[in-house]
Amino acid sequence: MTILIVAEHDNKQLNPATLHAVTAAAGLGEIHILVVGSNMIQVVESAAKIKGVSKVLAADAAHFSDGLAEEIAPLMVKLATDYCYIVSTATAFGKNLMPRVAALLDVPQISDVTEIVDDKTFVHPIYAGNVFETVQYNGDKLVLTFRSTAFDAADVEGGNAEIVNVEITEAQNISRLVERKLIQSDRPELTQASIVVSGGRALGSAEQFSSVLTPLADALGGAAIGATRAAVDADYAPNDYQVGQTGKVVAPQLYVAVGISGAIQHTAGMQDSRVIVAINKDPDAAIFNIADYGIVGDLFEVVPKLTAALKN
Ligand code: FAD
Repeated sequence: MTILIVAEHDNKQLNPATLHAVTAAAGLGEIHILVVGSNMIQVVESAAKIKGVSKVLAADAAHFSDGLAEEIAPLMVKLATDYCYIVSTATAFGKNLMPRVAALLDVPQISDVTEIVDDKTFVHPIYAGNVFETVQYNGDKLVLTFRSTAFDAADVEGGNAEIVNVEITEAQNISRLVERKLIQSDRPELTQASIVVSGGRALGSAEQFSSVLTPLADALGGAAIGATRAAVDADYAPNDYQVGQTGKVVAPQLYVAVGISGAIQHTAGMQDSRVIVAINKDPDAAIFNIADYGIVGDLFEVVPKLTAALKN
């Protein structure tokens, strides 16, 4: 069986999330990677070096430059004839693109897969991660997205895949990119970080969110910073900091939850973290149910003390 993984990239670099999809798909059959973009030869070459990939399909055209689902989906539908599984990682890119591909192909999609039982049977979370459902599909074509934190990254070296240019589908021109606001940060990307410090509504303002959490993140060796949706909605933190069901899914070695209640929509995005530390003034806060270490206290007292202790 052959698998088509659509690569996530910015026309310059391959997003490491794609490497997790390669590991996940390795047990299903032969892996081909589709790189759709514009002037993205570096990405094509990187994809060809990934261990376990046998072929890279390159689709280079101006109308693919912004990674719009409306442009990429028709190409994937055309290519899908040769594949049993059409795959991506369950990132914002994959969540945007793959349902469109599945609908156009009129095949099912199993989203956010965390475990492959066999080539027809997959496990994935539902109800914000409260239930893990096992789904079996006996048809001959399936769209899958994989949860990156559930699978290791494939080796970026060691492969020598054949590179093939594919015939381009024509521009759809039904959508256009108006603006992309990129938050520049020296910190590691949330989903790749080994330590994440996250803050909630309790931080009270954007200034306090930054002045309390940044020194702690620095003292932990340059941790990534995350936030709850309540903190993002209140403009304490940018949108791409959001961890949870409708944000990013993270599974770092250490997750420090500061002033976070532990709503299921938040814990759905961080409960697989190896060690969870929670700081909350309410001893009954739900976050303590999943925390390995809990500190009951006012974060404005606890966090500066913890930061000072880490610096010593
Ligand atoms: P609160 O629930 O208000 O909790 C604040 C906590 O801070 C409390 O536990 C309080 O005891 C504590 N606290 C207050 N002051 C202090 C202090 N001085 N010191 C220490 N502790 C203090 N949420 C997400 O995070 N991510 C998502 O992806 C997400 N998706 C959602 C999707 C849907 C469809 C819906 C309906 C909701 C979603 N939510 C999501 C929202 C979620 O339900 C919660 O509302 C949110 O996570 C709460 O954020 P919070 O913990 O910051 O705020």
